[in-house]
This record gives sequence, C-alpha cells and structure tokens, in this order.
Amino acid sequence: MEHTIESYNALVERLLALSVAYYDNDAPLVSDFEYDRMNNELKRMEAEHPEWIRPDSPTQHVGGHVSEAFSPVRHEVPLESLADVFSFEEVAAFVGRMDEAVTAPHDYVTEPKIDGLSVAVEYRQGRFFRGATRGNGEVGEDVTENLRTVRSLPKTLHNAPARLIVRGEVYMSHEVFGEINAQREITGEAPLANPRNAAAGSLRQQDPAVCAQRKLDVVFFNIQLAEGTSYTNHFETLEAMAAMGLPVVPHTLCRTPQDCTDTIDRIGEGREDYAYDIDGAVVKLNDLAQRETLGSTAKYPRWAVAYKYPPEKKPSRVVDILVQVGRTGVLTPKAVIKPIRLAGTTVTNATLHNQDFIENLGVNIGDTVLVQKAGEIIPEVLQVVTKDSEGFFRLPAFCPACGAPVERDEDGAAIRCTGAECPAQRLRNIVHFASKEAMDIDGLGPAAAQALDKLGLLNTPAELYSLDAQSVAMAERMGPRSAENLINAIERSKSQGLARLLCAFGIRQVGAKAARVLARRYATLDDLMAATEEELTSIDDIGPITAHYIVEWLQSEQSRHQIELLRAAGVSFESREEVADSRFAGKTFVLTGTLESFTRAEAEALIERFGGKASGSVSKKTSYVLAGANPGSKLTKAETLGIPILSEEDFRALTAE
Ligand code: NAD
Repeated sequence: MEHTIESYNALVERLLALSVAYYDNDAPLVSDFEYDRMNNELKRMEAEHPEWIRPDSPTQHVGGHVSEAFSPVRHEVPLESLADVFSFEEVAAFVGRMDEAVTAPHDYVTEPKIDGLSVAVEYRQGRFFRGATRGNGEVGEDVTENLRTVRSLPKTLHNAPARLIVRGEVYMSHEVFGEINAQREITGEAPLANPRNAAAGSLRQQDPAVCAQRKLDVVFFNIQLAEGTSYTNHFETLEAMAAMGLPVVPHTLCRTPQDCTDTIDRIGEGREDYAYDIDGAVVKLNDLAQRETLGSTAKYPRWAVAYKYPPEKKPSRVVDILVQVGRTGVLTPKAVIKPIRLAGTTVTNATLHNQDFIENLGVNIGDTVLVQKAGEIIPEVLQVVTKDSEGFFRLPAFCPACGAPVERDEDGAAIRCTGAECPAQRLRNIVHFASKEAMDIDGLGPAAAQALDKLGLLNTPAELYSLDAQSVAMAERMGPRSAENLINAIERSKSQGLARLLCAFGIRQVGAKAARVLARRYATLDDLMAATEEELTSIDDIGPITAHYIVEWLQSEQSRHQIELLRAAGVSFESREEVADSRFAGKTFVLTGTLESFTRAEAEALIERFGGKASGSVSKKTSYVLAGANPGSKLTKAETLGIPILSEEDFRALTAE
C-alpha cells in the first residue's frame, strides 16, 4: 500500500494513544503482538521517509510518562529500552554488526526477557534506600513505599558497595495472578488482564497496603551504578548481584551466534517453567568497555537486542467440545483437541469463547482447526482448516452443572445459568449473599467462604443458617472465637428485612437500590412473589427486563427451594422500608462531588427513606442538587437551569430526625 504523510501521522497518533493506555493506565487496548505489528509498520514508513519522522514518534523515545501522583526521581543512569527483533536472521545480523564494530574477542550473555515493570532500586550502605519506575527513561516515579512490600526485594545486602543502583523487573508470579483472579471471580470484580499489567497497576497504587496484597516479586538484570567498584563484564555483575543476595535473572554465556540462538530456543521451550511471564530473550554483548564504545541511540543500547517469540500456531483435531460453568454462571465452551506441543507446553484444549464465536468459525466436533498460543494467553482456536462435520456446535439449553435453564445476556454474547442453587456458582452466591450491601454478615468474605467450602459445609446461601459454631471452627484460620462471632453475625442477619434479602438473592439487575424500591412497594416477600411482570413494570425505576428477571428468578424451582429453606430458618421476609416520614415525597435529588460525612450510597438511602428519589442526571425535573467537594459539570448545569443547590450542611439540616 502507498504510504502518505496522513497515514503516517494517523499511525503515530494511534500508537501514542495505545502507549498511554499501556504504560500510564496499565490497561492495554490491543495485544502486544498487534502493537508490535503496527510499530514495525511505522519503522518501515520511517525508513522509507526519514523526512516524515516526528520527534514525538514512539520510535524516538522510551514509552511511559511520569504520573503526578508520585514524586519524580531523576535516573542517574538512564533506563533504556531494547531494540526488538523477530527472527534468527535478525539475531545473526546483530551479531554481524558486533563483529564489525568490535575487533577484539567478544562474547554474549543471553537471558529471558521478563514481561513486568522496569524499576531502578538504590541501596545505600547495603540498605534498601529508594526505588523508581522507568517512566520516560530519564525520570521515573518514586515507588519506594510500594517496593518495600515486594516479598523478594532484599531490604539489606551482603558486602554491597556504599552506593548501588540495580535495575530489575517487578512481576506478579503466575501463581499469585491465578489466586487473585480466582478471588476476583468470587467477588464479581473484573479479572486482571495479564500479569504484566497487574504488576504495573499494583506497583503504581497510592496505598502500599493494596500493593502488599498483590504479592509482587522482583528479579534483577543489571548494575546501573556501583560506587567504588569496577567490573569488566556483564556476566560478572550478575554473579556479584547474586552474591549480595539479590534475585538475579537466569543467564547463559554464549560465544557464537549458534550458542545465542540455541539459548533463545531453550528459553522459549522452557518458558512455562519460569514463575514470571517472558515475552522474549535478550542477547547482550558481555564486555562492559566494548559496550561503552558502542553507546546508544536515542532509545536503545546498540550492544543488545530483544528477540520476541512469535505466537505459535498448529493444526489439530477437535475430539470433543466441553461446556464449563464459571463462577458467575457463564457457560464457556472449550475444544478438547488431539495433544500438540505449542510454545513449550502440551496443549490439550483451546477456548472457543462463546456461541457467537463458534458460529462465526462454523466449528463442530470432528473438524481440524488451527490453534494459537500467543505469549502466556490461553490457547485459542483461530479457524477451521478442514471441515469433517455437519454444521456448528450449539451450547446446551440447560446448565451442565445444575440443570437449570440458561439465558443469553440481553447486552452481550454470554449465555448464563439461571439456577439459584447451581454448584458452579455456589461460592460467589454465598459471598454476595453475605456482602455489606446484602445481608451484611461480618466475617464471611471470600477467604472464609472458601475455607468453609473446603469442609463441604456450604452448598447454598440458605444453608448458612444451619451452620453450628463447632463445625465452623474446624475451617482453616477460623478458631472457636471467630466461629462464634460468625455464627452470631449469621443469626443477626435473619432480621435484615426484605430489601437486603432481595439484594442478597443476586437476581440480575436487582442491586441494593432496586431492592429498596421493591421493598417499599411490597410488605413481604410473599406479596412480591404474587406480582406479575406487568405489575412490576408499572413501578417507577423497574423496567420490563428487570421485571422479567425478577419473576423468572422467584418462580424457578431452585429459588423456591432456597426461599423455603430461608423461611424455615426464620429469616425475616418483612419489609422495613415503609416510609414513615415522607418529607421528600415527589422530590428528586442529584448528587455531585464528594461528601464528607456520608458515602454516596448512604446519602441516597437517606433520601429514599424520606420518600425522595436519587437520580444520576440533572434536568428541569430535578428538585435539588446536593453538591459536595469538587463538584462536576452537574453543578454548572443546575446553576444554568436555576435548580436549588444544597450544601452538605443544608442536607444534614433537612434530614435531621
Ligand atoms: P520492551 O518492554 O520490549 O523492552 C525493554 C524492557 O525489557 C526494559 O524496560 C526492561 O525492563 C525489560 N527487560 C526484561 N528482562 C530484561 C533483561 N533480561 N534484560 C534487559 N531488559 C529486560 O520495550 P518497551 O519499549 O518498554 O515496550 C515495548 C513493549 O511494550 C512491546 O512488547 C510492546 O508490545 C509493548 N506495548 C504494548 C502496547 C499495547 O497496547 N499492547 C502498547 C505499548 C507497548
């Protein structure tokens, strides 16, 4: 395709936007493979048209920015990036360049390239002093307090130089990444996208306590500065770091180009064995004086290259298609394939994502498909190579885990189980049932629920009410005291009332707010169970889809069973939401900014308690805008429309009992 300066500029803009998402927000919008493809396209355009090169092009500077949330740290020795190569020919070309430039004998060190977040860490008199992110390479962000929480970062070193600055990569191990995502699935939070961004997002947290929970690790690969000490080669510096007690990247001395490529192959084959993700292997000239002579470009040292492993693809036959039910009830189809070796592992199954994906590929059992493993991502079926079956696979109409009917999300491709007692969703349902805005059972978070689950004590939320302190005390990290407390909290929750109970059911689209609306209209759960979809739709704030979900849930066999168990346990079905004092009847409030003495949810609940309504946007119908600190554009809009504005103090006066 003919390149134009417009297409060049558009590509620069696109890559810059992707870099902001990746480096500054730790939330990539495309895969690294896709980013590298576009970046290479840019390099080709710049090689053809050097006159187009913009100073802000991503090829001209190191990626990240420095967030104002952290103090800046100027790096005494810049933290450079690495030139990428994608083939062994390019590795050979690099070695060729070295042979030309360095006439003295020379060798190389080859290391895995860890896909984490680059940091510079300073030790003074052998004690951890400070650490900073790479930032733009010249100036990074001071993340000392967060680094203190990194488990594998030694706080003191043996026989270290008076001042030492080392460079390394902070990462989240596969094990921790898996654990955190399993927990997030139970609590309903979005899963972390990949270990690299998880590590970067964690290290750039404002609160070191949050960073500590993320259980990060670090591994070092360079000495940036060592006061009063001199080394002759890189291999020696790595050994010296290890002797001081620092965790150091695995390193192999390579004398020939063949040694380098063999090592790259070996690292690639064994990539599953590292605790961290790797996205390549780095080949570095070993001799430090020779490196000095070669120097750097604006972005990369000339004496090293990073070889990036290509995503591997291979064909295989689909032997079966299994459907798994996730903790959120989503049915996920996966293809069981004839085992193949891909990117260092034996692959026996590959994800098919959802029904739409299957239909687009037209895949069924018996077909031969192309499977890809890009980096550490779960293998995926890319396309059908040979069609040996009829039509495409259909997901079942009933949940394979519990037999309840399934339903497709009205706003997405996911197909979900509707069973209130589905064993696959058990943990998540229990944690939600006990959560703060639902039955508020103190002490029953994800960890406690998992511990009880291991003992086989809980199958459904309703069974909470038949637990006894003695059995609970057997759970991991529980003990008689906390078991007693938990049983008391469960007992107290019986009288929470209808609104919280409805929220605890986890009916789709019925959160705390809709639950309160329903509990204001119906005096008991039995009254609500007698309501039709039409009747529910006539309630302000309840739309037809929500009404459908409510009726469907309340009528299902599994839900009825839960409800009867709860009734037998003595859980209150009565509403406590009757509006005794309707001073805000007919009034709509909009909240903006931060309130000091209420959370947003508390202020909304208060408005509703006095018969008013809380809404999200300002219109002519708004009665009051309640403005806290740093109000947003809603305040300006209210002023234009002449709507009365309340301060937090006014609001406190209006809601005084
Ligand atoms: P890079 O990450 O490819 O390479 C440089 C980094 O490698 C250094 O910061 C260093 O910390 C690290 N490293 C790990 N192990 C090392 C070792 N043994 N020796 C030396 N260094 C080691 O370069 P970059 O310029 O920071 O970023 C480019 C990468 O970021 C590409 O992989 C690209 O795909 C990705 N990226 C992705 C997106 C996206 O939207 N997905 C956007 C921007 C960048």
